[in-house]
Amino acid sequence: MDFTKVSKALEERGFKVSAFPTGKEACAYLNERIDGTSVGLGGSVTLRDIGLYETLPGHNEFWSHWAPPEGMTADEVRERAMHAETYLSSANALAETGEIVNIDGTGNRVAGTLFGHKRVFFVVGRNKLAPTCDEAIRRARNVAAPKNALRFGVETPCVANGGDRCYDCKSPARICRGLVVLWEAMRGCETEVVLIDEDLGY
Ligand code: SF4
Repeated sequence: MDFTKVSKALEERGFKVSAFPTGKEACAYLNERIDGTSVGLGGSVTLRDIGLYETLPGHNEFWSHWAPPEGMTADEVRERAMHAETYLSSANALAETGEIVNIDGTGNRVAGTLFGHKRVFFVVGRNKLAPTCDEAIRRARNVAAPKNALRFGVETPCVANGGDRCYDCKSPARICRGLVVLWEAMRGCETEVVLIDEDLGY
């Protein structure tokens, strides 16, 4: 995939950009960039599938509520991740015009991309790209969120219908409780988008 347009748009919005043909190469790059520091991860199939859960803990203080250290609860780990030097997340959608879109239920993931860290990396597979900000929001709501709901197995209409679309449900199990659009890199935070020419996550 040609990332020229989205890379230019992201750079104009203050994001650093790097691009890799494979998740394996992106994983190696991130392990070089994130070394001997503390790192927090938002829940992300992309981060898991490119191998960061296996590689980053060996040379960093590593905080992910998907892999809590023995004796710690997921909430305690979320709290530690919020204070890490570096934070990693994927995106539910990325507009080719440069906006980054994420939906969250607990809030730790979107909060972690906004404040509290020296560096933030968004790791984004090619399948997350959409032509415009409106289309990116549509993708986040109607593609990424129902698939994530399916993964969690929650009792929501999108899951009952096989994850076909969002029903803007009023279910107590609703996983979509907040939507964040980054128009620009947040002030005072070095923010990099790592693009990968593979389909990753939802
Ligand atoms: S708002 Fe409800 S129906 Fe829509 S994707 Fe989220 S959980 Fe599913």
